[in-house]
Amino acid sequence: MKRVIIATNNQNKAKEIETALAFPNWEFLTLADAGLTSDPEETSDTFLGNAKIKARAAKKLCDCAVLADDSGLEVDALNGEPGVYSSRYAGTHGNDAANNEKLLRELGDTPLEKRTARFVCTLVFIDDDNTEIDARGTIEGHIGFKAKGDSGFGYDPLFLPVGLNGKTFAEVPQAKKNEISHRGNALRTLRDELLKKGRA
Ligand code: IMP
Repeated sequence: MKRVIIATNNQNKAKEIETALAFPNWEFLTLADAGLTSDPEETSDTFLGNAKIKARAAKKLCDCAVLADDSGLEVDALNGEPGVYSSRYAGTHGNDAANNEKLLRELGDTPLEKRTARFVCTLVFIDDDNTEIDARGTIEGHIGFKAKGDSGFGYDPLFLPVGLNGKTFAEVPQAKKNEISHRGNALRTLRDELLKKGRA
């Protein structure tokens, strides 16, 4: 079996990655499953830079392959904010309700056509021989005027993706989100790259 450590402790992300990259003879473990702890400071101002920091920190802890991701929301009317600060936009790390409130406050009464935004996901895979492969995925959409829906996480209740006819990511089942999401798109690109390069 080829062992791949997923450098995240988010079980939802881990499950999505395992499903998208279900190659025969590949087994996935999260850091916690492998008994490892890695929480490096994300000091880069790009998603790719931060995904590399996370992947390289995890690679130092094991001989096997590793996979890390970094993602966030870019809002055009806010000059690309919250960007790499998406999870700590309102100050505390991972406070989704406070982040969403701040986003609505910052956008104020900006009209819908000027509330364009995208989710971005960057993945960095480091193979057991230290070869690095990265992949990026995006999904375009708009930021709504109020939170709608209970599924998903983060900014999902405010994000109206192109293609969902006015529904937010939080109003559709996870499988539907994965079909068009930034993380789904990045995973499909990485899957193709791994196959093309003969690594899977
Ligand atoms: P990270 O990639 O785990 O560092 O996530 C960064 C932050 O971006 C999350 O805490 C969320 O606020 C936001 N984010 C990333 N992907 C999504 C998504 O699929 N839905 C909603 N928010 C997301």
